[in-house]
Amino acid sequence: MTPSSAAAPEDVLTGSCLCGAVRVTLTGAPSDVTLCHCTTCQKTSGGAFAVAVGSRPAQLSLDDPTAALRFWQSGPETRRSFCSRCGTTVGFHFDDPTRDRITVWRGLFDDPSTLIPTGQIWTDSRPDWICRLDCLPGHPRGVRLP
Ligand SMILES: [Zn+2]
Ligand SMILES: [Zn+2]
Repeated sequence: MTPSSAAAPEDVLTGSCLCGAVRVTLTGAPSDVTLCHCTTCQKTSGGAFAVAVGSRPAQLSLDDPTAALRFWQSGPETRRSFCSRCGTTVGFHFDDPTRDRITVWRGLFDDPSTLIPTGQIWTDSRPDWICRLDCLPGHPRGVRLP
């Protein structure tokens, strides 16, 4: 994947889970911003895909002063984290530190405008309608649905 070009090396992006118990700070440009269509991301996000922001662990601090963060072993060598207070999914972690990579989700950031996806993975599980989103009726804000 190509590095995100919209974020400069000196940029600092902050964010949090929905309740604010877990805070994230990303320093510098991420390694990549990637749409993940895998079925695990569909389940954990509750959506059709996740927007993954990958970086080196040294660039990303996870601040959890009230120990709200929980980990779930999602694969033989991977864990997913979430806030135990509000349920927000926070990250994807490799058990092997030599992977030198941590992933958090784009939606955590207060201003994610510089985090622009440059690729997508697990397209085998991508629903066909994703490519036709512009054809669906749109509303600038929420509407009362039946
Ligand atoms: Zn929370
Ligand atoms: Zn995924």
